[in-house]
Amino acid sequence: MHDRTVDYCDMRLAKTYDDLAQKYHFKLAHTYDEDETNISYIITVCMDQLNDLNITVEEMIDQLTYYLFNKRSKKSLFWCCFGDKLIDNLKTNLDRSTRCCKKCGRRFKPSGNHQHYCGECAAEMKREKAKMRKRKQREKAKIA
Ligand SMILES: [Zn+2]
Repeated sequence: MHDRTVDYCDMRLAKTYDDLAQKYHFKLAHTYDEDETNISYIITVCMDQLNDLNITVEEMIDQLTYYLFNKRSKKSLFWCCFGDKLIDNLKTNLDRSTRCCKKCGRRFKPSGNHQHYCGECAAEMKREKAKMRKRKQREKAKIA
């Protein structure tokens, strides 16, 4: 997430993660909401072991992201350990000058404060509105 060019994963990190995920994924899957202390205990144990590898948390996230998302593997432990950090990273990476289109959800750069739709959707809505206007006019003409 920090360094977008990461295309490798330290094998010790991968192995440690896999071992931990293997060991805890059943527990994680079954104590999701009920037992907060259980989860924080698991996270503490895992982070202790991961920290023993002397890799910074940023590097771990980058490497595990590469490692886990390129194959089908157990990711719940990853989210438990690094989820907060990942969301923080996403927030800082997002360009604050952009906005989400209210219609299609894509990000766009608004040209003014009142623009809530991307160019494409704005154009489509304009056409849609014009159509409705015409339809109403025709209906009025019919009645009269
Ligand atoms: Zn849109």
